[in-house]
Amino acid sequence: MPARDSFHSVMRIGPVQIGTHRDRTGRTAHAAVCTADRCGWSADYSSRTAAQLASRTHRCTVR
Ligand SMILES: [Zn+2]
Repeated sequence: MPARDSFHSVMRIGPVQIGTHRDRTGRTAHAAVCTADRCGWSADYSSRTAAQLASRTHRCTVR
């Protein structure tokens, strides 16, 4: 898994952290990352609103 350099966590919804980081083109990307053990779900979004929505609807495969 590639390192997310300069990941800044800005908020947390359940087990999911939302933060921003620079994508490969140097723009700010909004990432949602699940911190639950063995889940490993993460995704990038173009807006924080989209990342928040995805975090609320994320269903962990582990409990
Ligand atoms: Zn999860």
